[in-house]
Amino acid sequence: MKLTFRYPVYPTQTQETTLEQWLAHLCELQNSARHDRKVAWETAGERVSCNAQQKKLTVAREKYADFRGVPQDMQVCALERMDKAFDGFYRRCEKGAAKKGYPRHRKRIKSMTWKLRKYTKVVRRKTKDADKQTIRVRENPIRETAWKHDRLKVPKLGEVKIYMHRPLQGDPTQVTLVKKASGWCAHITCELPDTPKVEPTAAIAVDVGTTHYLTTSEGEKEDNPRWYRQAEGVLRKHSQAFSRKKKGSHRWRKQQHTLALHHERTANRRKDFIGKLVYKLYHHYQNNVLVAEDLSVSNMVQNKHLSKSISDASWGIFFKWCADIAERDGLHFHEVDPKNTSQTCSSCGQKSAKKLSLSIRTFDCQFCGTSLDRDHNAALNILYKAAAAFRGERWVTTLYEARNKNEARDAGLIEATQLTLFDALNKPKSLGLGS
Ligand SMILES: [Zn+2]
Repeated sequence: MKLTFRYPVYPTQTQETTLEQWLAHLCELQNSARHDRKVAWETAGERVSCNAQQKKLTVAREKYADFRGVPQDMQVCALERMDKAFDGFYRRCEKGAAKKGYPRHRKRIKSMTWKLRKYTKVVRRKTKDADKQTIRVRENPIRETAWKHDRLKVPKLGEVKIYMHRPLQGDPTQVTLVKKASGWCAHITCELPDTPKVEPTAAIAVDVGTTHYLTTSEGEKEDNPRWYRQAEGVLRKHSQAFSRKKKGSHRWRKQQHTLALHHERTANRRKDFIGKLVYKLYHHYQNNVLVAEDLSVSNMVQNKHLSKSISDASWGIFFKWCADIAERDGLHFHEVDPKNTSQTCSSCGQKSAKKLSLSIRTFDCQFCGTSLDRDHNAALNILYKAAAAFRGERWVTTLYEARNKNEARDAGLIEATQLTLFDALNKPKSLGLGS
């Protein structure tokens, strides 16, 4: 398992100037690597390997002083990044995809990465006769100090102040320095042993929407904060001021920074909300199984009426974090096919004859007469779909028992014809699951 820790970094003015020069150099290098590959592909239909480009880099480093001024590890990582982008491109070409997605020419880049090298360490001899033992270990990029700030070792630059507000875990393998509007930060990737999965016992399903951020299968709703729309007024003000400044002037640059800060703040608020929400779903409600729809967010954004709301909700980050937290903490995250989840009755499993439009907020079943909130109904369907797929597991049984308890309580109200969850599980076809 890989975990990345993020810490603020405070370079001095001289260090910052150097770092910015390196960013410009790496951007140029990345663009020339792209050009090299593009020419080879378009003229001869040839692929250029990362190895070949690295050999060219070695030659360039011998020839030019400015190449030698930048750490080789960072240059190699920039080439590898291009290689990865082109791997996707070549694959799409092979597949004959309509959108091949040429890796773009970048005006500027904002981060530099380097991998931490392994070095040989001599282990002390335990007995006099034993041979000297050596092991390969990675260098720790952090030097701890007695003061508030520790020091991050950057190749060719020396030590930069770093604020370690939480300890690193595992074995650090890679460092990325990122320039943001609010300052610099370091992302340190660490290698950790995988967390063993807990036994699944309690499950919850969520249905995401734009009116409410999400609805759980317990019927609880989470408000949609709509950060972008909230901040739209201020954004307009900043953008207007920016467009009125003379391009390239001192005030223009200042306003550009203000605008960038504003966008960063909106993004931070969004991430803060999503992080807390995911934590709540798993740990606060004490669930170890989370079920959600397998939505294709990039396709949905193309709906021009909803695109802003959907982008603003950033469900992509939400689903990704659900999966990541599950991996980190040994929990379970399942995604189910979203087909018909909002059109099917959760209590009898019949699909409604008429398509329910988005504006209708309650689901009224024409077969059994159940009337339920639309999103709650969908969340229940999502849960049952996952339950049908994982039949025999303990959380499914728990779910079934919990449901039975409710039914016993409402025994007087339930008609004999109404199906229970158990029946619904045995009839997967009625839930649109196929055979
Ligand atoms: Zn029904």
